[in-house]
Amino acid sequence: MKFDTKAIHSQKHKKNPHNALNSPIAMSSTFCFDSVEDVQKVMNFQSNDYVYTRGNNPTLREFEEKMAQLENGTAAVAFASGMAAISSTLLSLLQPNDEVIAHKTLYGSSYNVIASLLPKYSVTSKFVDLTDASNLQTAITPNSKVIYFETPANPSLDIIDIAEICKIAREHNLKVVIDSTFATPYLTNPLDLGADVVVHSSSKYLCGHGDALGGVAVSKDLEYINKLKFDYMCELGGVMSPFNAFLTLRGIKTLGLRMERHCQSAKKIAVFLSNHPHVKSVSYPGLEQFKNHEIAKKQMSGKFGAIISFEVKGGLERVIKFANELKIFSLAVSLGDCESLIEVPAAMTHFCYPQDQLKDFGLTPSMIRLSIGLEDCDDLIDALDNALNNN
Ligand code: PLP
Repeated sequence: MKFDTKAIHSQKHKKNPHNALNSPIAMSSTFCFDSVEDVQKVMNFQSNDYVYTRGNNPTLREFEEKMAQLENGTAAVAFASGMAAISSTLLSLLQPNDEVIAHKTLYGSSYNVIASLLPKYSVTSKFVDLTDASNLQTAITPNSKVIYFETPANPSLDIIDIAEICKIAREHNLKVVIDSTFATPYLTNPLDLGADVVVHSSSKYLCGHGDALGGVAVSKDLEYINKLKFDYMCELGGVMSPFNAFLTLRGIKTLGLRMERHCQSAKKIAVFLSNHPHVKSVSYPGLEQFKNHEIAKKQMSGKFGAIISFEVKGGLERVIKFANELKIFSLAVSLGDCESLIEVPAAMTHFCYPQDQLKDFGLTPSMIRLSIGLEDCDDLIDALDNALNNN
């Protein structure tokens, strides 16, 4: 089946109690058994019955199976948020004295986990520019264990060659974990390019409506996913709510349609911004002059996502006025919703980066990030044009 058919069709409706087209939400924290022997079968992996929602639940399982299918993985684990997925995945792959090599630009909280939290458990970190895969070769040490990056990266939109990085990682026996939140499985399938684990904040495009937090990790390795689920998600407790799994499954049905429109509008807006006299620079992988544009083209199904970062002429003071005055776009963190959003990463999502070293991490104080929503694209362009001309 092609992507949209897989995204829409549930294999479950014949199996739920009333043959409902959409599975009922299993809002139960615990599940009952007829005998202790039946419970023991579950504990010994001889049965797929449910015990307790922090271990598994029918609605969560449906979401996990859907994500495994869309990412061409074998299995998946649902989490309470993208950060729960990222932190649990990293903890599951690392031990004291190991080293993580991460791309220099990451979502703020992911940077914080790698730069500040993991070192408390004697896991060291190194931030490298992975847009040039040869930098990885020189960064690897005997302690390196995990390579971690986002592509496109938040908020620089840096494009990293997944296949190339995975090739180098394999030669050194390193695990590759990719946060593919910006690309979604509609544009990229990192596991097919050699990644060991792909993680998403499902709070963004997968849900698509800004009303349910969630996260997910997918792998082709079933043994690893069982370890991640039962030794980390279940024990650390970052489980997704069944209601959020239901909302995310509903969102996924229109992921393909939404991504088409998001990407189409974003490309138009990126071109508009790059030709605007008040704009200094635009970062968008769909622009031919953008570094690794050709890799993005190949890796993202010929589309480029719907996040744009840019700089206006006139610096931070003008940026603040522009962001405050811009119509239609809401001033808010997050992305991937129907509504277009604007934010200033250094002051908002990436506030935890050392402010005196922003440049080293591919950030600037005056960078603006847009999440292009599903409104009429001409209205969005008019709003941007007005705010650029009048502020
Ligand atoms: N990864 C990326 C690329 C993000 O942009 C975000 C949040 O903005 C996260 C992970 C964290 O996701 P969540 O807010 O669902 O924990």
